[in-house]
Amino acid sequence: MSSTINGGISYWYADHGTPAPREPLPGDESADVCIVGGGYTGLWTAYYLKKAAPFLRITVLEQKFCGYGASGRNGGWLYNGVAGRDRYARLHGKEAATRLQEAMNDTVTEVIETAKAEGIDADIHHGGVLEVAYTPAQLARLKEFHATELAYGEKDRTLHGARETADRIRVAGAVGSTWTPHGARLHPVKLVKGLASAVEALGVTIHESTPVTEIKPKHAITPYGTVRAPYVLRCTEGFTASLKGQRRTWLPMNSSMIATKPLSAAQWESIGWEGRETLGDMAHAYMYAQRTADGRIALGGRGVPYRYGSKTDNNGRTQPATIEALREILTRFFPQLAGVEVAHAWSGVLGVPRDWCATVTLDRATGLGWAGGYVGSGVATANLAARTLRDLVQQDSGQAGPTDLTTLPWVNHKVRKWEPEPLRWLGVHSMYATYRHADHKELTTPTPHSPHLARLANRLSGRH
Ligand SMILES: Cc1cc2nc3c(=O)[nH]c(=O)nc-3n(C[C@H](O)[C@H](O)[C@H](O)COP(=O)(O)OP(=O)(O)OC[C@H]3O[C@@H](n4cnc5c(N)ncnc54)[C@H](O)[C@@H]3O)c2cc1C
Repeated sequence: MSSTINGGISYWYADHGTPAPREPLPGDESADVCIVGGGYTGLWTAYYLKKAAPFLRITVLEQKFCGYGASGRNGGWLYNGVAGRDRYARLHGKEAATRLQEAMNDTVTEVIETAKAEGIDADIHHGGVLEVAYTPAQLARLKEFHATELAYGEKDRTLHGARETADRIRVAGAVGSTWTPHGARLHPVKLVKGLASAVEALGVTIHESTPVTEIKPKHAITPYGTVRAPYVLRCTEGFTASLKGQRRTWLPMNSSMIATKPLSAAQWESIGWEGRETLGDMAHAYMYAQRTADGRIALGGRGVPYRYGSKTDNNGRTQPATIEALREILTRFFPQLAGVEVAHAWSGVLGVPRDWCATVTLDRATGLGWAGGYVGSGVATANLAARTLRDLVQQDSGQAGPTDLTTLPWVNHKVRKWEPEPLRWLGVHSMYATYRHADHKELTTPTPHSPHLARLANRLSGRH
């Protein structure tokens, strides 16, 4: 019988414990700013706003507990990727998109330094991001990706052949890799818990076990009362569809992970990975992994990508077939780990807008704001989004003028809604079926060209 713990929100909670619950909203309240959602986006927004304007009365409303969502379940890649950059370059020009990229590069440092300044020990290791290729088609994409990143101003990214890659990490069959210093490994839950405590210590009110059912201008409505505030900021990412009127705004996409038992010294010796870079690949249905501070491999990828009707949560429970598929990826990368015990498996949801572009918006007419749609690159992006929301609120309330952040191309970006069901379900499932088919084809018939269908799936889904 398998000894894998399935669900329980995530391995990170098994490692660090679920937090003591904070009081729910006791009744109607008023605030200057009401933030809905206690993940990285909501908490960083509360943090930066309160730091900038300590007199503000800020209330965070969280349906379960802070870090219940993706912020307590992710792969711990703090890195400089931002969803939609290339589309923003097409819409607003290369220079604007390069400014967004540079802001993201700085954000990695900002999170590391702020965590340090606040005394948050989140097992951060600044080892950069290593992405490997193990088929000719992946190598072709890797080189293209590398060149693109250089063209967006990354001066310190390096390209490696098979031998140099193996010097860093022995991934079976790896033919090349690209490395950037703009990334770090972290323990997601230690960060989100530390952040919630820091925010509270600044004087922000956090109510947990308080689901918001509807957001209206100047109102966040819950079963226990309504918070009235000139600014209501929606920071609910993959859960957004559960709010009244938001069903087709951002599609809740699942991502699933496994964590092994701690590996032995001999196993680590056979793998290398001393730099503790976050590790990814160039498959269409890509994987992501980290070497945890307690000596495990935590590895994620796409399982069942999307549940009919935008359903979201079951405390992270994951289908056995998905756990098996992730284990196969683990042993494809490191065949010597065949038979290693998977200690934990879990899943979470991330928000995907129809055009796959992350956004930060403040509607000046209504005082409603939101940030998200990070499509799986949210650990760092949420921090940049939060600082941007701070600047937008300060600008709108006359406390400051426009800043470098309020003029970034992702600000106030508009996108259409997703199609109604069953089109939404059919679209996402066929896209991922096509990716899996393309990945399999690339493995079995090695050519440097990506199958046409994978490119078509990208175009139809609005991804590229
Ligand atoms: C398995 C997995 C792995 C990932 N790995 C990475 C990675 O390695 N690197 C990376 O950059 N990104 C990764 N991501 C994405 C990243 O974790 C998210 O983009 C980021 O955490 C989003 O933060 P957030 O605060 O916007 O959303 P969340 O963390 O989801 O927070 C939203 C919060 O809002 C609350 N909420 C929702 N609806 C309501 C409501 N109606 N009322 C009150 N509260 C509500 C939720 O309970 C939740 O706590 C991953 C995501 C998943 C699921």
